Amino acid sequence: MKNEGFSRRHFLGGAAIAALGRGFGVERVFAQAPRPAVPDDATDLLLVNGSIHTMDAANRVVSQVLLRNGRFAAVGNNAAAQSRGARRVDLKGKTVIPGLIDAHNHIVLVGNRPGWHTPLEHVFTIPDAIAVLKKRAAGVPAGEFVTTIGPVAAMQFPEKRLPTLMELDAVDRPVYIQAAQGGARTNTLGKAWLESKGVAVAADGAIAGPALNLALKTLRQELLTPETRKRGAHDALQYYAALGVTTHRDCGAFHAEGPEGGVASENVYTMHNPFLALHREGPMPARLRIEFLHQDPPNATPPLPTLAPRLRNSFPFFGDEWIRTGGIAEFTGGGVDGLRAIAKAGWRGEDHTLNLAGVTQLIKDRETVNAEIPISGLRWIISHIPAFPAELADRTHAMGIGVLVGWGPTRTGTNVGPPYRMLMTHPIRKGYHSDGGDITVINPWLNFYTIVTGRNLAGQPILGDQTLTRQEMLWLATAANKWFIWEDDLGSIEAGNRADLAVLDRNCFTVADEELKATRSLLTVVGGRVVHNDGVA
Ligand SMILES: [Zn+2]
Repeated sequence: MKNEGFSRRHFLGGAAIAALGRGFGVERVFAQAPRPAVPDDATDLLLVNGSIHTMDAANRVVSQVLLRNGRFAAVGNNAAAQSRGARRVDLKGKTVIPGLIDAHNHIVLVGNRPGWHTPLEHVFTIPDAIAVLKKRAAGVPAGEFVTTIGPVAAMQFPEKRLPTLMELDAVDRPVYIQAAQGGARTNTLGKAWLESKGVAVAADGAIAGPALNLALKTLRQELLTPETRKRGAHDALQYYAALGVTTHRDCGAFHAEGPEGGVASENVYTMHNPFLALHREGPMPARLRIEFLHQDPPNATPPLPTLAPRLRNSFPFFGDEWIRTGGIAEFTGGGVDGLRAIAKAGWRGEDHTLNLAGVTQLIKDRETVNAEIPISGLRWIISHIPAFPAELADRTHAMGIGVLVGWGPTRTGTNVGPPYRMLMTHPIRKGYHSDGGDITVINPWLNFYTIVTGRNLAGQPILGDQTLTRQEMLWLATAANKWFIWEDDLGSIEAGNRADLAVLDRNCFTVADEELKATRSLLTVVGGRVVHNDGVA
């Protein structure tokens, strides 16, 4: 099987770290490095001359860090003293941050896309998007689809549209692009294939209305296999590792027994299989935390038809450092009875909210349940909260519930929230999430851009005066998210913590706002293993 895009040899182990020792960034070692004969953990890594933002309680910035046995062994300005022959990498002043934690996204959906899913979250012009697709196509067998489904938005391009059929014809493979917010495009090769399956495609390659649903359903039906899903799962984790994301907390999908046309639909009982398969084969490019999404109707007969068996038969917070289950999210289902069952079982529960009326109701329902069964120790979550007043934050906090904030780059409107500034000065627990994968982007730097500038990708102000500093923004996506993933040894660079970090290609604390969007990682380390290495000049 021709499969250059996917190889376990992408993963750098001891051999790759040895290659780093020969000259960090001299070559893209991950294409050639053989599977290490010795455990990766046997190799220590010493980073020196960095601007290492630890995000510890004192917000220390240090110059050296020693990684040993998958954890940070020494952090400070003299870690080298303990390095005992570790591979030494001179960072030449580069900015280092803890591995980013996206505390709520839909990476599992992204990993299950049909075709050779090719994320375009790091390009900002149509010619650049075409260039990425062409590069991808070069490694794709003739006749197979290059796709981008979900985390791409017309508003990220100055033209405010997706590429046309003519533009996509520069790619010598069938292409299918479906944006998070409606609409899809294909090229001539893709059009011919789709039309042969009964999907209506306009002359300019646009697919809309009912045809959109049929297009994605057909692509899923015809192209997905366990192997392609596994390739997709790997590629998705690898792509975001290259942007510095080392931990994903996946918040599920809408359940579909078989292939359906909804961008947020998957079989929630089998969609984790490709990730579990990756995990069985070796170390993954990032950590995955799995939530279970339920949508039982209230007053169903029997009651809580899917949630009740889940709570009886599954294990919350079970797994290892790479893949681990969590609780019920991002829907609990079953109304107040669902919340009651989750509280009684001692599980964590999370629901999302879209507007003030919605969040007010969520808080009320939780107050009802909390009065019967205290939930304060269970770390319940309300995600992507809208603009809401401090009084609601008080009530949420009083129940020990935390809120996740983010999901901004593709939104429109004014003062859409969340009220970052208010929350920052409030004692309530808060953390960062992108909510990306189906309705928006996962790229953290696009989200960070919105958080610090208050603008969406089209440059329109959406947050009013509710913006944050860059230090605050980074804290939300690192140390603050320890609470949300319920793991204290991730999210900050401190001795004893798991060694997750990203060496950035620019100083994210000082670059111009527009440049923040294009930030990427030059070197991403997860559990002491180099999973992405783009080299440092
Ligand atoms: Zn979500």
